[in-house]
Amino acid sequence: SNSSLSCGGCGVSLQTESPELPGYVPQAALEREPIICQRCFRIKHYNEAASVAVDQDDFLRLLGAIGGTSSLVVHIVDLYDFEGSLISGLSRFVGNNPVLLVVNKIDLLPKSLNTNRVRNWVQQQAKALGLRPVDVVLCSAKRNIGFERVIEALDYHRKGRDVYVVGATNVGKSTLINRLISDYSDMEQELTTSRYPGTTLDAIRIPLDDGKAIIDTPGIVYTSRLTEVVPRSFLGALLPDKPIKPLVYQLNDGQTLFIGSIVRFDFVKGKRQSFTLYLSNALNIHRTKLERADELYQEHKGELLGAPSEEELASVPEWTRHSLQVAKGSKQDVFVSGLGWISVNSTQGAQLDVYAPKGVKVMLRPSLV
Ligand code: GDP
Repeated sequence: SNSSLSCGGCGVSLQTESPELPGYVPQAALEREPIICQRCFRIKHYNEAASVAVDQDDFLRLLGAIGGTSSLVVHIVDLYDFEGSLISGLSRFVGNNPVLLVVNKIDLLPKSLNTNRVRNWVQQQAKALGLRPVDVVLCSAKRNIGFERVIEALDYHRKGRDVYVVGATNVGKSTLINRLISDYSDMEQELTTSRYPGTTLDAIRIPLDDGKAIIDTPGIVYTSRLTEVVPRSFLGALLPDKPIKPLVYQLNDGQTLFIGSIVRFDFVKGKRQSFTLYLSNALNIHRTKLERADELYQEHKGELLGAPSEEELASVPEWTRHSLQVAKGSKQDVFVSGLGWISVNSTQGAQLDVYAPKGVKVMLRPSLV
């Protein structure tokens, strides 16, 4: 990178290596005058906000800066990766500012699902994770579902203040921001960029008609999400694009499911029962005997077992094993951040082993569906 150059738009230090990090400019654009970062270029020419990502330290500094303002904080999370994309310390970091929780990607849930139930579940889970939002809104930024409710909630809770939009990467923040730009902002005025107070990070300001603005923030990268530790080439298979069709497997103990070549699910001990998979339907599922699973993986990962390929797997961290005990008579999900979940409706209890790349969050939670 070339740290001596800075963007003529927002002032961020320019670099030519990582498109998803702040200050990226394609090599060829360095010939132009004035030199501006790709993000400013898109804003200027297409009125479009592109997402950038920052690490934990920069992100916490940024949240602290928001804490010093009087504003509404809109936290956007991915329903499909709820525990993985929720910023649990958010209320603490942004001080007294209210948090509006916008739950995106509801289009992915099976059609049969009752949205009131989902909303209650979200409220309970958010509370359990330490977040107390003033309101919860469900939407799909991409399919334009529930967007009027998002705007209503913004108007109602903003009370004449600025709005900061925060979220992890890949939750659909820029899709939502671009919708807000086209449907809600005061387009007489142009998008501008400015600095967050006390940081070196640039912010996109989307003007509102009362002189206030919606301010986009960089996404935070959580390496506890499978989506952040796999190569980009595998993301298409991992992120569902259509409503998920749940897959039901009746398993005996001593059976294993391979989910592509990326996660392994062992039913170690318990009575025969059903497991329902809520995953991208582009993933290959392979059932086998637990006693054969190690050997099968060694011989067939990346091919018979499905993506990612062996070449892609080379850059993915090694598996670690998570031993989980589903209590008798409970309905729980085995949640694997960035992959989806497996719902266990256990009358008899079940002992499970889940193998996932090191660092990826794997846990039991109250069942969503
Ligand atoms: P950002 O990193 O948070 O800015 O996320 P993007 O807006 O770039 O979206 C990340 C991915 O999620 C892209 O593949 C989007 O197409 C997809 N996406 C965004 N919103 C939705 C949604 O409401 N439903 C679905 N199914 N996908 C979405």
